[in-house]
Amino acid sequence: MLRSDIEKLHRKIMARFVDEEVIPVARELDEKGEFPSDLFKKLADMGILGIRYPKKVGGSGGNTTLYCIAMEELARGLMSLGALTAMQCLMATNGLYLYGTKEMHDEYLRPALRGEKIGAFQLTEPEAGSDLGNVRTSATKVEDGWVINGMKTWSTSGPYGDFHTVLCQTDPAKKLKGLMFVFVPADTPGFSHSKKFETLGTRTSALSEIYFNNCHVPPEYMLGEMGRGLDVLLTILAEIRVMTACLALGLHRAAMDDSIRYCKERVQFGRPIGKYQLIQAKIANMAVNLEAGHLMSYKVTHLIDNKIPCLNEASMAKYFATESACKAVDEATRIYGAYGYSMEYAVQRYYRDSRFLLYGGGTHEVLQTTIARQFGI
Ligand SMILES: Cc1cc2nc3c(=O)[nH]c(=O)nc-3n(C[C@H](O)[C@H](O)[C@H](O)COP(=O)(O)OP(=O)(O)OC[C@H]3O[C@@H](n4cnc5c(N)ncnc54)[C@H](O)[C@@H]3O)c2cc1C
Repeated sequence: MLRSDIEKLHRKIMARFVDEEVIPVARELDEKGEFPSDLFKKLADMGILGIRYPKKVGGSGGNTTLYCIAMEELARGLMSLGALTAMQCLMATNGLYLYGTKEMHDEYLRPALRGEKIGAFQLTEPEAGSDLGNVRTSATKVEDGWVINGMKTWSTSGPYGDFHTVLCQTDPAKKLKGLMFVFVPADTPGFSHSKKFETLGTRTSALSEIYFNNCHVPPEYMLGEMGRGLDVLLTILAEIRVMTACLALGLHRAAMDDSIRYCKERVQFGRPIGKYQLIQAKIANMAVNLEAGHLMSYKVTHLIDNKIPCLNEASMAKYFATESACKAVDEATRIYGAYGYSMEYAVQRYYRDSRFLLYGGGTHEVLQTTIARQFGI
């Protein structure tokens, strides 16, 4: 089968899963704000959690393009399901895959790809959001491993996480050059977390603070090399950004599909509102931006699959697709008029969930700075 045929078939399978299994329960899941265990297990059984890992570690042998197609479709149904699945497939497990021992793969990675264990990825701290050089959670070398002290915040899947990939500082004077990732199982003595945050959107994806109080882990739990944490992050940063772009594409499509349906049904002044040129302009702009975001994003996934460096292209795709999705959901709420303000229709959820896209994978101000930097500015 041609690669493009595999991508089409994969999209078709994911789209059917989302239409039949996710959309019918999306509202209830969002209202309850609980971890969607049943859907997560079904995704594991479909091989989605292991989609970007080779079969030798329990993955499905796919690639970044197939991963991003899956995340786009999931976000079309329920953004928070896409966000927490994306975390499990990439950020929470990639360090474990690349640097973990065979024993760590057997105990944590394989069960994670089967949906039996949940992983979390922790960079952010109260004083270190965009500025990772200010990370203060410390990793101190001791004779038989590492001792971790400090706290993290905004950890997706933090309260449920069975294991955590944690960005630590080994020497505060070195800032970015002192960083290192450490693997910390949640049953390590001294590990604890806060209660789940109340959030505006992505409500099934639980967030919390995480605390490390003299957490002692063995030497092999260092993921990568001491002081090379930034390099470990850079191995997946383009993928994180394009994955976020694809979540945005999914949300954009949901907002556009609903808007098209509604503007054909809603009659004012004797005609469906879709017959008015100002409404048509909104739909046309949604469609154009969606097409452009799609072209930019899947260009990046194919570059990643071909091992071609593309952080700049990924930053542009994330920035464009996310800004476009935020605009599309805003326009959708206008097309719905007062009903866009009602909890009855899904557009309010799209609006709330869209805000998450602005932070994950880098804020837009930081992305704009990065994009401009290539021109020597
Ligand atoms: C739903 C959700 C899930 C998340 N999940 C995780 C997770 O699983 N793990 C994790 O580690 N983190 C997670 N985060 C945190 C996220 O990564 C951070 O929000 C992000 O890194 C930005 O940090 P901050 O919010 O502290 O903002 P800050 O860095 O404090 O930025 C505040 C404002 O200042 C701007 N700014 C900052 N620096 C500059 C600059 N140099 N130039 C111009 N403007 C600047 C920013 O763009 C922003 O507008 C999550 C956040 C959310 C909302």
